[in-house]
Amino acid sequence: MPKIKVVFAKPLGFCFGVKRALRLTLNARKKTKAGPVITFGELIHNPQVLSELRRSGIVSVENLNELSRYNVKDNPAVVIRSHGCAPEIKEAIKKMGFNIIDATCPTVRRVSKFAQVFSKKGYFVVIVGNKDHPEVKGILGHVKDQKCIAVYHAKLPQILRRNEVKKLVLLAQTTITKEEFLSAIKKFDFAEFDEIKIINTLCKEAQLRQRSCQNLKNHVELIIVIGGRNSANTKSLYKLASGARSKVIQITKSQELIKNKVVRKMLSESQHELKVGIISGASTPIEAVAEVVTTIKALAQETPAGSGNKFFKSHFKEVINNNEC
Ligand code: SF4
Repeated sequence: MPKIKVVFAKPLGFCFGVKRALRLTLNARKKTKAGPVITFGELIHNPQVLSELRRSGIVSVENLNELSRYNVKDNPAVVIRSHGCAPEIKEAIKKMGFNIIDATCPTVRRVSKFAQVFSKKGYFVVIVGNKDHPEVKGILGHVKDQKCIAVYHAKLPQILRRNEVKKLVLLAQTTITKEEFLSAIKKFDFAEFDEIKIINTLCKEAQLRQRSCQNLKNHVELIIVIGGRNSANTKSLYKLASGARSKVIQITKSQELIKNKVVRKMLSESQHELKVGIISGASTPIEAVAEVVTTIKALAQETPAGSGNKFFKSHFKEVINNNEC
């Protein structure tokens, strides 16, 4: 079995927006004595953290209909997660009598503000991002009269090609890659519009992760991307890591490594050293990263399996500090 050399793409662990949302939710849990704390949508795209939250009475609902099953007399708090939501959703929750804790990430709130301000000034709002992602839906919800649209990889929609729109503002979903934003911008024929404003609304922290991920490519044999399957920023990291010489896998938790064929094959074929790059999504806890490190080392028979916590306490911070990427 080879010796494992781990290289981290930093930052690791929760991003600033997720940490903030978690802190606000846990504070609400302390203050809300009787009733549950309800998050509007899953707070974090991480199954382990979600089940821990459920154990402490923090549940999630997907829509207003599900929320209406809770009794307002229990005085439950409703948390708007870091993705944010449309103002009309917030209004509806208030009308139902719930207390709102707004944990919208300030970076996402900034995009919504731009959408709102520019649409009031008569600009058509175009957001480059996935129209079905909750963040994009929330941002578009800040624009009145449907004078907005989300575009991603597809061709530009008819409305932007029929000369119906004269002035437009282009914004980005916070977690898409810089390359995706630039390639969408290039699709616009600047001669067709009186004015196009482009505002860089990409999240700086997500960009740092993406840059670090690109630096890792080709310098390691195996890249492990850790994060939820429905996490947009993890998807971006996976896409960026793919297509190089390094093999890339995405997992949500360390146990998935055990049966992973790519991992098994590489461990059995590598003779001396296997360089493994570790990348984590913005809603992956640092403890999950530590578990992945101990599991891959245990599979290479370097450390006993299940020693994650011990390893975390004794070595992990040091390992992170010494592995600049
Ligand atoms: S990835 Fe960026 S925009 Fe998204 S929650 Fe984290 S800090 Fe906020």
